[in-house]
Amino acid sequence: MDEADALLVTAGAGMGVDSGLPDFRGNEGFWRAYPEAKRLGLSFVELANPMWFESDPALAWAFYGHRLHLYRETTPHEGFSLLLDIAREKKEWFVFTSNVDGQFQKAGFDEDRIVECHGSIHHLQCTVCSSGIWPADGVYIDIDKERFRAKSWPACDACKATARPNILMFGDWGWDGSRTQAQEERFDDFLQRVVLNGLKLCIVEIGAGTAVPTVRLTGERVAGRFGGRLIRINPAEPEIEPALGVGLAMGGLDGIRALVEEA
Ligand SMILES: [Zn+2]
Repeated sequence: MDEADALLVTAGAGMGVDSGLPDFRGNEGFWRAYPEAKRLGLSFVELANPMWFESDPALAWAFYGHRLHLYRETTPHEGFSLLLDIAREKKEWFVFTSNVDGQFQKAGFDEDRIVECHGSIHHLQCTVCSSGIWPADGVYIDIDKERFRAKSWPACDACKATARPNILMFGDWGWDGSRTQAQEERFDDFLQRVVLNGLKLCIVEIGAGTAVPTVRLTGERVAGRFGGRLIRINPAEPEIEPALGVGLAMGGLDGIRALVEEA
């Protein structure tokens, strides 16, 4: 990592664990974080479905409103700033994450150098019309915790229909991907600059599992195509083809610390 001129950080849900965030790993993990969902017999995949915003917005917004507040209130763990220090020493850097929690921005990473491939909970869109994407700043959801019901929720300015987070959910055909697409265009430009300037690339992947493999596959594809070395930090699934890089069977913060100490 020391010799690299460019850094790509790729991160999945495991990145947030050391900040105290749940990673919804398996039904049991999800239900530990949301016992109300267990009571309702709903898995994460079932609850993270856009249909609830139309059929039962009070339930949908109890779940997403709670997460919005949780992510806002969470302080990113020290691993974020350690990574940012490394990034700033490089000629080029970028972040690719499936996390919708906005923790990289909160830790000081430049908004223009982040891809949030599943969108962001800190942005909203309409469930019905194409009025675009707007920030969730100032949106606070009053939740009846006992009943796991939101008492009120945001609406679209244009058509007054229920608003929803600009997150790619399961079975989601209504997601407005335009913000993420603009991020991906900047990511492509970054990769172009790596090639054009002959930069040596290092990829650090943190907490990206095989269940939703977008982050792992993106890192592997970039490593294969652009000749970068991939360091995979993952306590449960550190396996990696030796030709692509090396796996560290560690949690996010410990793994990042180990990289810093080795440098
Ligand atoms: Zn609308």
